[in-house]
Amino acid sequence: MTAFDTGSNVVTRLRPARRDVAVSFEFFPPKTDEMEARFWESLDRLAPVRPRFVSVTYGAGGTTRERTLRMVTQIKANSGIDAAAHLTCVGASRDEVDAVVRSYRLVGVNRIVALRGDPPSGIGEVFEPHPDGYRNAAELVAGIRRIGDFDITVAAYPEKHPQSADWDADIDNLKRKIDAGANRAITQMFFDNADYWRFLERARRAGINAPVVPGIQPIHNFKQIAGFAARCGTSIPAWLAARFEGLENDPDAHERVAAEIVARQVDELLDGGVREFHFYTLNRADLLLSLTRLLGVKVAA
Ligand code: FAD
Repeated sequence: MTAFDTGSNVVTRLRPARRDVAVSFEFFPPKTDEMEARFWESLDRLAPVRPRFVSVTYGAGGTTRERTLRMVTQIKANSGIDAAAHLTCVGASRDEVDAVVRSYRLVGVNRIVALRGDPPSGIGEVFEPHPDGYRNAAELVAGIRRIGDFDITVAAYPEKHPQSADWDADIDNLKRKIDAGANRAITQMFFDNADYWRFLERARRAGINAPVVPGIQPIHNFKQIAGFAARCGTSIPAWLAARFEGLENDPDAHERVAAEIVARQVDELLDGGVREFHFYTLNRADLLLSLTRLLGVKVAA
């Protein structure tokens, strides 16, 4: 029995001392002072978990260029946690993107999450690269490698990227990104672990040996997450939707269900051998704090 044992099946199955588990957290750059206060409060609460890094997303069309840079710089300076800056190819020439890469290097940020990005109208629309721009993430990775010695993460899709013609094209694309110099992939959110295991098998069969870190999205708000999932091509299993049915006005029950579901998801992944997790935080610490404790992640004294 563990200190966290509440009698629930999931919690009792979690082992108490899995200290070899590494986590990273994804934040988005806040738009207002109030959101920024919550950003720092959440980061403070999660800092004792000692994440491998905290990443900050890059808004559509480079709209958050300055804010992303400011947040990653301040994370490193204020908390001492390693920070990763996301970067996309959208709406910018190679020279402009390279200038952003150099600005990250100048402030000591050596981790980049390299992405193609989506057209401002969304993932369903055809991506038109800037005439002088990087055309996809693999080209961006190669461009970053030419500039310096960065730790580079790329995106992977356990349910296939919606624009990949088929699985072979999707896995070939991931391979191109790794071969261009990426150190690891982080997956899009998924809710059926079988999708992750199948994807991992496909990747390994194709000779991709880099880590494929599962990207885990706790369901803070089912309606909101279902909306995000629809926009990025992640499916919501019927059993999952059923769990949240009728809980719109019952935040306590919603939170308990969300906590149980995400604990079950990571516990199964742990059982399958996963030792590194990336969490989409939406700038909130609540569900994640208890979850990382349950994972047995070492906490700073
Ligand atoms: P790519 O790897 O370039 O692939 C995009 C599509 O093009 C794929 O279908 C691929 O098969 C196809 N393709 C690529 N190259 C070729 C080629 N040469 N020939 C034919 N087909 C090709 N978006 C943001 O705007 N900001 C963020 O901060 C952000 N962070 C993210 C973090 C993670 C972990 C993930 C998983 C996604 C993130 N995204 C972000 C979303 C991402 O930008 C979109 O999913 C986008 O649609 C694809 O980006 P990518 O880097 O995977 O593109």
